[in-house]
Amino acid sequence: MTRTLRRLDEVEFDNLFVRSLPADPSGVMRSRQVRDASYTLTMPTPVAAPALLGWSDALGAQLGLSRPARCDAAVEALAGNRILPGMQPYAARYGGHQFGNWAGQLGDGRAITLGEMLDTAGQRQELQLKGAGPTPYSRRADGRAVLRSSMREFLCSEAMFHLGIPTTRALSLVGTGDQVVRDMFYDGHPEYEPGAIVCRVAPSFVRFGHFEILLANEETDLLRTLADWVIEHHFPGITSHADWFAEICRRTATLMVHWMRVGFVHGVMNTDNMSILGLTIDYGPYGWLEGVDMMWTPNTTDAQGRRYCYGRQPQIAYWNLTRLAAALAPLINDQQALDAALTGFEQTFADGWTQMLADKLGLPVSADEAEQDMRSQLFLLLQAEECDFTLFFRRLAQVPVAQALTGDPAALEPLHEAFYSGTGPGTGHAAALLGWLQQWARRVQDGNEPDAARIARMNATNPKYVLRNWLAQRAIDDAAQGDTAMMERLLQMMRRPYDEQPEFEDLAGRRPEWARNKPGCSALSCSS
Ligand code: AMP
Ligand code: MG
Repeated sequence: MTRTLRRLDEVEFDNLFVRSLPADPSGVMRSRQVRDASYTLTMPTPVAAPALLGWSDALGAQLGLSRPARCDAAVEALAGNRILPGMQPYAARYGGHQFGNWAGQLGDGRAITLGEMLDTAGQRQELQLKGAGPTPYSRRADGRAVLRSSMREFLCSEAMFHLGIPTTRALSLVGTGDQVVRDMFYDGHPEYEPGAIVCRVAPSFVRFGHFEILLANEETDLLRTLADWVIEHHFPGITSHADWFAEICRRTATLMVHWMRVGFVHGVMNTDNMSILGLTIDYGPYGWLEGVDMMWTPNTTDAQGRRYCYGRQPQIAYWNLTRLAAALAPLINDQQALDAALTGFEQTFADGWTQMLADKLGLPVSADEAEQDMRSQLFLLLQAEECDFTLFFRRLAQVPVAQALTGDPAALEPLHEAFYSGTGPGTGHAAALLGWLQQWARRVQDGNEPDAARIARMNATNPKYVLRNWLAQRAIDDAAQGDTAMMERLLQMMRRPYDEQPEFEDLAGRRPEWARNKPGCSALSCSS
């Protein structure tokens, strides 16, 4: 059954967040410290020439919305040039720990929520523009976003969703027709770049930092009000603050298992970029593991400390949760309960990791510690020579178990494609890898799972397609020239990331050599 879709300007908007929580009473729009409020009513600043560049048909269908024409009333709304009836735009107030340090008030410096609507399943969804102009939380920045960062957020939000990973979504990408100045390499060479706005969608964009700022300012009444509101509307069935925090810990742990599973590296896991709902939020200098490297970070600002590298993400999530625990302590007042919830994070992560690794490897779940070690060893082994994370795991399903059992080097052949040398592993490494594969094959045999079922399980866990940075960069470069065909191809490809799609074979390979050091194709700066 196909539902009739409506236009965005036919939607009835609501504003539960605005109706329920205290507004900043000041009408002053310049950057400043805000107190005793969860948000400031703020209008988007109109742009010169809004034009629709991208639209998610998948999310559009979920919201019951038809795709707008290139320039119509819906596109004007998605650019912030037109406020539709019922919308009450606002910027949220939050703080955060950035790179381990308390940074004070941050807030929506360039994000503006337009309003809420019900999707076709009756779930309330917030529509939020990113790059819609300055707010009282902009500090010294311009409130805008450039095409390259907006395109990356647009594509990756939808890619993550179809990978089955909790995330905020992206409905549209609109070019503004305005130029935005950015010093992309932070080297004193600012340049004009095209501006663009993403319309993000999520049941809520509340972050850990929403609560941290209230602790820092000792606004305990509002802390309680906000916590109770979030629980009532977003955590049905939860009746105590302690149970709520435990649930946030579990959701965050599950999210980390997902990120580790697909080789996603967020890049800026500050507490203001942590969703209270356990969603992936704020796509900035993120990336995907290509060569396996536990210490890899896509964020050039983090190249020194590597705080937010691939391998540390679960640990950092835990640390971020300790910051949230501190913020919620005035409500929970029970150190044991807080500690138990944090232990719950560790347990959920450990269980999730065990299950995930078993699925990635096509093995039975094992609680045995030595067995777990042997499995995790693979990650370290794969660091010895540059080997593509996505390709290796996807191709492991093609390794003939009978050959691997006998230690026949031919068993390695399906994996050759994963090696950046182009010719498979070098001699010494091949021997080590073959040794590991032999142990793996024995476990597969012991598991007694029919091959077809095992391979299906592996392929449903190890995506064939991920949104590699160099692919997104091609879509950006083309879109800057007015050609959005590559963007559409990537959107299409990412709708079925676990399926073989022969028409997209060219998008499933290793990162080409030209992309190794090209800006945007591997590592990125925070400038956006
Ligand atoms: P991020 O590191 O991108 O998560 O941003 C940290 C904080 O800076 C958030 O409060 C953002 O809203 C704010 N911010 C980032 N870029 C801009 C910008 N161009 N204009 C205004 N605020 C910004
Ligand atoms: Mg952020």
